[in-house]
Amino acid sequence: MSDGLKLPKFSVGVGDRFAHQAKAQLAACVKAAESGVEVVPVWNKSNREHTIIGSDPNQTRSEADAAVKELRWTSPYFLDADHINLKTVDRFIAPCDFFTLDVADEIGKAAKPEDVEAFVARHPELVGEVTIPRIDAPFQTDETFVKGVANKFLAAVQDAGKIYRYLVEKKGEGNFVPEVSMDETDAPQTPVELLIILAAIADEKIPIQTIAPKFTGRFNKGVDYVGDVPQFTKEFEEDLAAIAFAIKTYGLPDNLKLSVHSGSDKFSIYEAIYNGVKKFNAGVHVKTAGTNWLEELIGLAESGGEGLEIAKEVYREAYAHSDELRAPYATVIDIDDAALPKPEEVDGWTSEQYTSALRHDQSNPAYNPSFRQLLHVGFKVAAKMGPRYLSALEANEDVIAKNVTENLFERHIKPLFLGV
Ligand SMILES: [Zn+2]
Repeated sequence: MSDGLKLPKFSVGVGDRFAHQAKAQLAACVKAAESGVEVVPVWNKSNREHTIIGSDPNQTRSEADAAVKELRWTSPYFLDADHINLKTVDRFIAPCDFFTLDVADEIGKAAKPEDVEAFVARHPELVGEVTIPRIDAPFQTDETFVKGVANKFLAAVQDAGKIYRYLVEKKGEGNFVPEVSMDETDAPQTPVELLIILAAIADEKIPIQTIAPKFTGRFNKGVDYVGDVPQFTKEFEEDLAAIAFAIKTYGLPDNLKLSVHSGSDKFSIYEAIYNGVKKFNAGVHVKTAGTNWLEELIGLAESGGEGLEIAKEVYREAYAHSDELRAPYATVIDIDDAALPKPEEVDGWTSEQYTSALRHDQSNPAYNPSFRQLLHVGFKVAAKMGPRYLSALEANEDVIAKNVTENLFERHIKPLFLGV
């Protein structure tokens, strides 16, 4: 397929709700380079977040460009229109060069029977004993199974094709990196389903460079992975094998790699990701944007004074409007209401009490994942504070930046890309 813009082997989805931390995020990538591994930043902010805050993708672009210039970053960097579809893509077209085509809504919608028939006829290799190199036992499938999977995903892949072709029309082929995401669906996709989906994507001629399946287990926002780690490890490696096989068999771009969404803070699977990627000499993209807003709050709380006041106020308001704030994220958070402190209690907290409850340090007994998740979805409260919140970010930039860089480098990049 065409030689256009190419996403390097290792990349990290960064970004923050208020477009203030690009430099601090890029500083973590600079540290990675100094440690001997190129991890390129992809600034992403989903349409959902832009809508909730009332921001615009052009702001993310200016912030990213300014950071790159200031830190003299010479490796590639990208701007991701995260989770877009045909209805929402337009304002992302000019500023973005990476597009996450979200087809979750189409998954499960029946495809045209003749399209399903044609797909199965075109792919006899998917029926019967399917041997994928480096997966121990072959998968056993039959026509009914392949038809079932095709029926579940074909309409979604065709929809991705429509968005892709629209983007080609607007931006030109090779001028952007396409990703297909299916993470925000009910059921995880198995490795053999992933292979069938990749065959359909190749048929649709989408030169995808990243694919975001839904993995087994829970990927809640801002907190650790909840699930069976050995099972995740097995499926992650089988996905890597399926991708390598699909690149060869279907002529997909040779840099095609997995994209792990809601990838921040999933500390218990980072070792499995690092090992799997190394074993298969594969690349990986991990989206971590969500964690940065919490580092802002930690930085504000740590600064004390007005910063700490704002952090407390964000919690008070988030607590009061909890239902409304949780609704858009209902499937990706697990908050235990009984574990949430009352705002009156938090009002009396010191900087240290606040940051101990919020910072993702599982060895700290005061760490409170419910408190953290409620604040994770509470950025709308800060958006409503407007200039007051933004000036606090600027007044406390040093403390916040230190937290943002350290969290991204120490807790994310190191275990994911350096294996330490
Ligand atoms: Zn996602």
